[in-house]
Amino acid sequence: MDLTGSFREQGRVDTLLGHIRREAAGEYIFMEVCGGHTTAIQSYGIPGMLPHGIRLISGPGCPVCVTSQTFIDHAIALTGMPDVTVATFGDLVKVPGSESSLEREKAGGADVRVVYSVNEAISLAEKNRERKVVFLAVGFETTAPGTAAGVLDAAKRGIRNFFLLSAHKIMPPAMRAVVTGGTHVNGFICPGHVSAITGSGIYRFLPDDFGVGCVISGFEPLDILQSVLMLIRQVNLKRPGVEVQYTRAVKPEGNRKAVSIMNQVFRVSDDWWRGFGVLAGSGLRLREGYENIDAEKVFPAFAEKNIDEGDCICGEILRGTSTPGECPLFGKACNPGNPAGACMVSSEGACNVYFKYRNPHDTAYHKKY
Ligand code: SF4
Repeated sequence: MDLTGSFREQGRVDTLLGHIRREAAGEYIFMEVCGGHTTAIQSYGIPGMLPHGIRLISGPGCPVCVTSQTFIDHAIALTGMPDVTVATFGDLVKVPGSESSLEREKAGGADVRVVYSVNEAISLAEKNRERKVVFLAVGFETTAPGTAAGVLDAAKRGIRNFFLLSAHKIMPPAMRAVVTGGTHVNGFICPGHVSAITGSGIYRFLPDDFGVGCVISGFEPLDILQSVLMLIRQVNLKRPGVEVQYTRAVKPEGNRKAVSIMNQVFRVSDDWWRGFGVLAGSGLRLREGYENIDAEKVFPAFAEKNIDEGDCICGEILRGTSTPGECPLFGKACNPGNPAGACMVSSEGACNVYFKYRNPHDTAYHKKY
């Protein structure tokens, strides 16, 4: 394993691994709830470095993966409405709805544009005043403040043909659902970018109510190994807590300005998550006063119910009860070129990441991780 650079320095990696090997005593299951961590863990081959008793499992940390079919169906319905342009992140276009996908609709002539930010969608609206540009807002606390800032900016600049369909979500209710839903987890590797916005207090319920500790981690190999070691120590000492490993980016109080902008534009609502169903207080919808840009209200569409997803076990993977290799379609009928479920579509989806960095046919590996 060639790990170079200050956060990948082999000597420091070896030192941390030495501590982990000496201090690990028994079985530990740690869940990462950030697609960025899933990618880092698999791309650096971290599971293979750890003692056999330590399992790292993926959780509900990929925003595209947890987005409902109903949302995709609504977005597809928008493409059939007069003068509507749908602006979306690239990952979302391949996610299957109940009967089609945005990619398929685009191929059939629908006006679907891939953008990299809400600002790009606003520019699109500004340049095409005759079109109604609907931005599909997906993501956790990391991206919601940026969307909110875009909404305020569009309003300030008098851009009246910009609309928002929000599937923004917040992370703590899903983590609560993991621990109350029966998934055995000894600790969480908490998302660094979400925590940079929210601060560390949002995870306090994990040790207080459930006796499960967590560490907010960075994304480099040394960050992740250090976080694993911190979790092992919490478990061994029976002292679950909320610790911040990623201190260079995360302050306990978070980014108050970003949270304030987010709260100015969005209110908390119930929302549906793949793998969990409806979770109370887990979504972000536009507040009163923004009805004129709220695509849910301006362009209501008959939404299909979330239908049976066949053999796809993406929901179980998001709950941490199965691994990608346990899906009968993994690496066969389902692969990044032909995804059968949302977890294979997104570059941060567990199935996509495992396919990219691991032998998709290595079932022994997938049973462990
Ligand atoms: S491999 Fe494909 S079909 Fe199987 S769980 Fe993952 S996304 Fe779903």
